[in-house]
Amino acid sequence: MIDLENKVAIVTGGTRGIGFEIVRTFLENNAQVILFGSKKETVEKAVLALSKEGKKVKGYAPNLSNYEDVKQVMDEIHKEYGHIDILVNNAGIAADKKIEETTSEDFKNIMDLNVTAMFHTIKAVVPYMKEENQGVILNTSSMVSIYGQPSGVGYPASKFAVNGLTLSLARELAPFHIRVNAVSPGITKTDMIAALPDNVIAPLIRTIPLGRIAEPKDIANAFLFLASDMASYITGVNLPVDGAARN
Ligand code: NAD
Repeated sequence: MIDLENKVAIVTGGTRGIGFEIVRTFLENNAQVILFGSKKETVEKAVLALSKEGKKVKGYAPNLSNYEDVKQVMDEIHKEYGHIDILVNNAGIAADKKIEETTSEDFKNIMDLNVTAMFHTIKAVVPYMKEENQGVILNTSSMVSIYGQPSGVGYPASKFAVNGLTLSLARELAPFHIRVNAVSPGITKTDMIAALPDNVIAPLIRTIPLGRIAEPKDIANAFLFLASDMASYITGVNLPVDGAARN
């Protein structure tokens, strides 16, 4: 049995897609959850959708590229809840332009959200986790962090960086009983993927040995396991959840 009772969890990119399902799954397993999103309106929409399911959650929209902004929100959460036990760094954007069309700004934007924002949230919560001598940090990577991809180079580059950050911090923070792991989803049915036509989806599915695209719940369950005490001896791993897709 997994039970996150008395755990306070923060999930970035929690307003939709994989992050929203992680929030829902953690709530179903008794955690107190705070979700982050990019805009106040989308945060309010997600909080309302969950409240209609009878789930209580708080939401914030800090500017993740600004450390001071992130720290202020983390301090506020810590003041209210008294501890922060789980941090899920899930916010991310993708890219698919060829190198010639990719601007320096495109590259910077993707690194800012997918990597620097993760550094900011971790830096802000680690002192609180050290105070408790425990904590769990989970980072959303991607199957492209293992195999690369033939376009949008900033995206796999950022996810390779996520893996480096995960493995290094797992070693740095292990003496404080703070576990740091990554999850690498394969193609997952979020809004973006669901909108693709059948003739695009069908060839993608043929590359996946399990014969289907992941549901957000498939990915959220991996986060749940890694967040729980069932994974108490697991740190510094990058767990692929991709139906054995290898491309
Ligand atoms: P999504 O676009 O549905 O959701 C992205 C989330 O990130 C949203 O909650 C959004 O509010 C947040 N976000 C976007 N820009 C932001 C910004 N500038 N500041 C703060 N928050 C911002 O995406 P998703 O498919 O659910 O992806 C979630 C994570 O999973 C990402 O890190 C993505 O790289 C990774 N991933 C997705 C897939 C997939 O097939 N969907 C596969 C592998 C990895």
